[in-house]
Parts: sequence; C-alpha cells; structure tokens
Amino acid sequence: MPKRIAILGATGSIGVQALDIISKFPQHFEITALSTNENINLLTEQVSKFKPSYVAIADKEKANQFKNTTADLKVDCGYDSLINLTSLPEIDIVLNAIVGIAGLKPTIAALEASKDVALANKESLVAAGSIVMETARKNGCRVIPVDSEHSAIYQCLLNSKDTKEVRKIYLTASGGPFRELDKSSFKSVTVEQTLKHPRWSMGKKITVDSATLMNKGLEAIEAKWLFGLSPQQIEVIIHPQSVIHSMVEYVDGSVIAQIAATDMRLPILYALSQPQRLSSDIPKLNFFELEPLTFEKPDLHRFPCLSFAYEALSIGGTMPAVLNAANEVAVGKFLNREILFEEISIMVKKAMNLHSTIQNPSIYDILNIDNAIRLIFNT
Ligand code: NAD
Ligand code: MG
Repeated sequence: MPKRIAILGATGSIGVQALDIISKFPQHFEITALSTNENINLLTEQVSKFKPSYVAIADKEKANQFKNTTADLKVDCGYDSLINLTSLPEIDIVLNAIVGIAGLKPTIAALEASKDVALANKESLVAAGSIVMETARKNGCRVIPVDSEHSAIYQCLLNSKDTKEVRKIYLTASGGPFRELDKSSFKSVTVEQTLKHPRWSMGKKITVDSATLMNKGLEAIEAKWLFGLSPQQIEVIIHPQSVIHSMVEYVDGSVIAQIAATDMRLPILYALSQPQRLSSDIPKLNFFELEPLTFEKPDLHRFPCLSFAYEALSIGGTMPAVLNAANEVAVGKFLNREILFEEISIMVKKAMNLHSTIQNPSIYDILNIDNAIRLIFNT
C-alpha cells in the first residue's frame, strides 16, 4: 500500500520539491491532501497533476476564488482547515512545509491525531520543542526531520544504541552570502544581495535567516529537541561547500558524517521513505570533481543572531519562542525594506531583553507570547 501523504505548505520551496520527488515513486507514495496559504494558481496545477482528495486554503478570500473542477475534491478554507486536514483518517504521514509559527498548531494537531510528522517547519520545534516532542511521545508517533542537517544527524545516529555514546554533533553551515563580508559593510547590504544564497534555493524567510546565521541558531534549538542534546553538545561549523550535511562525534573519537549532493529532495525523500532507501535519480556526488572541503569557526561578532539563539537555547522556557517571533517580524520588515539588515539582530536582542522567561510553558503561553511580540514590534 502506498503511504498516503498530506503536504502542508505544498506551494512553497519544500512543498514543490517534495511533490517533484514524490511523483517519481507512485508505487510508494500517494498525495491525499495539499494546503496553501494563498497561492491558488499553483495549487490548481498541483491538484490536476496529483489528484488529492482534500485541499485546505488558509486565506479565505483566495479560497473563494479557487475553482473546484474536480468532482471528488473536498475544499476547506481558513487557518483551522489546515489543522482539520492533519487528522484525516486517510492520511499516514504529514509533511509540514509551512514557514514560520503558522506551522506550530498543525504540527501539534497532526501528532495528537497520532500521525508521524515529516517536519520541515523548524519554527514548531524552536518555539515549542518540549511540547511537540512530548505530544509525539504520548501519541506514539514520530517527528522525522526534513531539514538537511537534522536528516544528516538522524542518519549518522542510526546505528547508535545509546545517546550517551554521542559526544557532540557538528551542524554544518554554508556561511551564507555574507560569509566574507567585513563588519563595516553590513550596513549597506540590500534585500537582493541577501536573497542570493550561494548554495541553496529556498523560500525568502529561510534565505534571510541563512544570511544572518539565525537559521543555524534555529537549527541548534531544533537539534536539541530532536536528539535530546545539551547546548554544549551542539557545535556550528562553517563549511562553505555544503557537501557534508552534518556530523556526529562519538565518545570514542569516531566521527560519522552524512555526505551528499546539495539537493533538498534527498532529505525530503528519506523522511518519507525511512527506514527504507529508495533508488532515486537525485544527482550523485562525484568525489573526483569536488572542490576542497574547508571548515571555519562562525564569527559571532559579525553574525550575532547565532549567539542570541544559543542564549535563548540555554535560557529555555519561552525564550526561544521570543527569539523566533522577533526574528519573524524583523525578517518581514527587512524584506519590506522597513529596516536594515543589521537591525534584524537588534530587534531580536531587544525582544529577548524585554522578556521575563516562563519555564515549562503551555502551548497557550507560547502562542500568547508570540502574539504579544508581533503586536509590540508591528505597532
Ligand atoms: P516558502 O516560503 O517557500 O513556503 C512556505 C509555504 O507555507 C507556502 O506553501 C505557503 O503557502 C505556506 N504558508 C505560509 N504562511 C502560511 C500560513 N500563515 N498559513 C498556512 N500556510 C502558510 O518556505 P520554504 O522555504 O519552503 O520553507 C518551509 C519550511 O521549511 C520553513 O520552516 C523552513 O525553515 C524549512 N526549510 C526549508 C528549506 C528549503 O530548502 N526551502 C530547507 C530546510 C528547512
Ligand atoms: Mg537546514
């Protein structure tokens, strides 16, 4: 029986790449449900190609414009429609490829419905990691990483029987477009320069996060929850060639790395197929043609967002949700040309300074704080 998949955020960068790789394995996967925020044109194309049984459109106005020409297709709209979609009995696995905190409630809803979640939406784990992991545990289902670094770590840990065997992990980072830029030039970087990522083509928010290195900070928090590690066990290493997708160092000194072409379809496919590996046409590495692999320490002076994320990780409780919310608002403002690139980190730090952490927060605490940060910075 093919695995029946719901893709939340089907029209984004991860969603489109997921559909591309899924289309090559009709005997293994079936698309049962798709969702978008507002991109009904692309959704219409996806519906005619993949013939899902359900679609959910978060934006109600756009949903009204959606023409349902397929007899058996059920169309639901509004934010809650995403949540309803995750618990359909016809679904075996939910791929959450929504960007930002909007992905959190659907992640929890899917896990509460005992569905495995292939998680690209790292913001779910950053804002509410303990609740997400606890919900998965209680409902006997899994959070399977899609993020390439976490997919790498997951694969490097496959033969490890005990997490005590792990000394640390290395999360690799390309360094982004400003890896070699001197501090004084950061003032004048433009949105266009920021959106030119040297290795990956991704959605706008994560591309800006990669340029500030906040993405790697979010990934450190994501790694803590997925693999049960302490902040001291998570080290970020700049590796501009993006060939090693991350590494695990064991207590005996052995390091296991996952190495592959720079193609997100691979971690997406593995998250959906694991523990099986499927024979794919994803480009293979040619070791004889690789550039030399190099490694650097991240420069926290030029990329303060990374140290703020580590600070939030160490403080715990609601602080990572504050970091995440302030960053989402700041990135939105930068993309709208309302603030400078350098002001992203300043806004994040300001939000963290204003916040009194609540330890062991409920999901309501987290959503309220997220809302409050957006209100403060958007008025
Ligand atoms: P994107 O902006 O290209 O796509 C986002 C998707 O989410 C779209 O389908 C959009 O319709 C939907 N969406 C946005 N806001 C929504 C809302 N309020 N309600 C419902 N749906 C909404 O983003 P992306 O680059 O595909 O990233 C998605 C997630 O995957 C992010 O969390 C990102 O950090 C993570 N990720 C992406 C990549 C990548 O290569 N793009 C790699 C690793 C991790
Ligand atoms: Mg990543």
